[in-house]
Amino acid sequence: MKTIGLIGGMSWESSALYYRLINDAVNRRLGGLHSARMLLFSVDFAPVEALQHAGDWNGAAAVLVDAARRLEAGGAEFFLICTNTMHRVADEVAASVDIPLLHIADATGAVLQQDGVNRIGLLGTAFTMELDFYRDRISERFGIEVVIPELHDRQMVHDIIYQELCQGRVDAESREVYLAIIERLNQQGIDGVILGCTEIGMLIDQRHTDVRLYDTTAIHAEQAVIAAFA
Ligand code: GLU
Repeated sequence: MKTIGLIGGMSWESSALYYRLINDAVNRRLGGLHSARMLLFSVDFAPVEALQHAGDWNGAAAVLVDAARRLEAGGAEFFLICTNTMHRVADEVAASVDIPLLHIADATGAVLQQDGVNRIGLLGTAFTMELDFYRDRISERFGIEVVIPELHDRQMVHDIIYQELCQGRVDAESREVYLAIIERLNQQGIDGVILGCTEIGMLIDQRHTDVRLYDTTAIHAEQAVIAAFA
């Protein structure tokens, strides 16, 4: 079993999910008292969030480069960035170390492709939905068309992520907002929706809708364990 490195803290709410999901998946494979070999470097999210919203992606990249180097020095054999949004700087972070990055959009795209998905909705932060780093990776590498909500819906999805989910608040009204947005996406003819923010799974899961959901946290964690045993 390889040692998995995690860059977490963005937010720590979702890093806690990764920790549990990865340990669960290893235990399902090996049973007994087995658990994952894993290093987590968890950043302080407040300055990272400020850099994101100021558009200072170089500054944000520097925080993650430092984290990746610490994971490598600590013995991680490959690593994950436990947030979709910060994959905006994934290339720079990956280039700063010799251990490979398991990219969240590649992990997700592979599952979408296996399922024969042609057209997918995407929920995430405004950065993930609006910038091209994520959508283009899914469409160019996997041949899947990505559909995003209209502007007002995107703003609501974004605000609920930062103001509620990243602060550990799970609100029933916000769940209804998300489900209504998923329904509006569904009316545009999609095969499912990517929960493209690692906290959204705290709010909605497959029990809440008939629309097929692809939770990037669960997919990324599962693929990490597959990679750990490859
Ligand atoms: N965890 C979120 C994501 O997957 C948002 C927090 C962040 O901006 O990194 O995009």
